[in-house]
Amino acid sequence: MTPEVNNPLDVVSYNVVSYTELQEQNYHIVDKVVGDLQNSPDYSAYLVPGTGFYVREQVYAFANAAAHIQSENQSSQHDEETLNKINKIWKKDALGKTIQDIRSFYQEFIEYRLALPIPTAIRQWNGAPRLFARYGESWVLYEDIVDEEEREGAALSAIRNAERALVENLDNNTKVIMVSPMGWTGLADPPRHDISQIYIYGQDESLTLRVGMSHKEVESFLNSFAGKQVSIEGLSEKQRIKEIMNVAVAVPNCEFLDIAQKVGQVMQSEIVLEDDLGERKLSEMFSAINNREKTTVLGSRVEYLIEKLEEYVNSLNMNDFSESVVANLAVKIGQIVLEIELADGKYKDNLHDNLKVASASLPATDNYKLAAVRLTQRTGCSHGVSKKKSKAETKILCCNCPFCGAFVEAVIKNGLIHCPSCGRSRAWKN
Ligand SMILES: [Zn+2]
Repeated sequence: MTPEVNNPLDVVSYNVVSYTELQEQNYHIVDKVVGDLQNSPDYSAYLVPGTGFYVREQVYAFANAAAHIQSENQSSQHDEETLNKINKIWKKDALGKTIQDIRSFYQEFIEYRLALPIPTAIRQWNGAPRLFARYGESWVLYEDIVDEEEREGAALSAIRNAERALVENLDNNTKVIMVSPMGWTGLADPPRHDISQIYIYGQDESLTLRVGMSHKEVESFLNSFAGKQVSIEGLSEKQRIKEIMNVAVAVPNCEFLDIAQKVGQVMQSEIVLEDDLGERKLSEMFSAINNREKTTVLGSRVEYLIEKLEEYVNSLNMNDFSESVVANLAVKIGQIVLEIELADGKYKDNLHDNLKVASASLPATDNYKLAAVRLTQRTGCSHGVSKKKSKAETKILCCNCPFCGAFVEAVIKNGLIHCPSCGRSRAWKN
């Protein structure tokens, strides 16, 4: 079944107009508040500048949610109960993205995991199976999270090739492998990737392996699987990267561990990567794959911090998106990232807990300022985590429909959200 947006009659047009105005207004507030924080030596640490985590982007998502909530409140066409349900959905949508970005930031930049899970799934879309990525409470088309500028479009076409290979082989536990080699990115930030990433797409889950493979090693790695052969002999760095990314190999009856095994064979070494934690062994990659769903000790600290953020957001009245609400929200989000850095093994002595009192009226402590500096020195922190993810216009939102109450995968398309259960549509913009 392919749900389509085909019932625009339920959409009230004044709602859309007021939403857009409110969104502009809220964005303006975010820009002003973030600008003020940036210019203040006592508060700028909360924005964790120079890292892969973008506090401003996170607060923009809440600005969107608030605009919807304000617009629904003003339209006065709902009873209080429906209004509450609608508020909850939008809050959860914004919060879900922030939580996912905090978790990925932690796994990638604090834990330096050698295997990072990518939550993906195949969904029917316009009558055809497509690859979706989970982002908070929603599923977005996977290609929408890729920056089309990256590597002059080679990254986007690589994803499209991989997706095609995957949907053409929806049986026998087929995995599709694509490699993003280290080097030139075609972007201003970051100008280079300092490690190579092996993307492995499966039907229910996907994984990234982080390796120190040279271009030559990537070439042998890809050629060790049956499929299109790649040759980088005599090419410039840019051409080599494009050539490598152009290859998507479908491997039937394949486990993630088989692919890690191949990494060790090709690199002919127990050491598959060198980073801030030193020499990283193949055995660590195996254990990262086997334990990909498990939470570490530090991980439970992260979950605790996330819970605190959830409590805070749930207590907010987002109908009032004032400067002080925005400042507190930005500070709380940044503070979690700083707390994770403080809780990391190396600096455990500094561990403290003032989450309850921290607010926009509380300057960053020296510990926080130090944590902010240390974060910028972490390997790979210039890689964008969330920056590129906010532009998806097409997605599926998992929520309880506020009108019929059914738990649905509601389709968002062309500025409308559509409930496949009761058929109602409403305005929606990301
Ligand atoms: Zn419904």
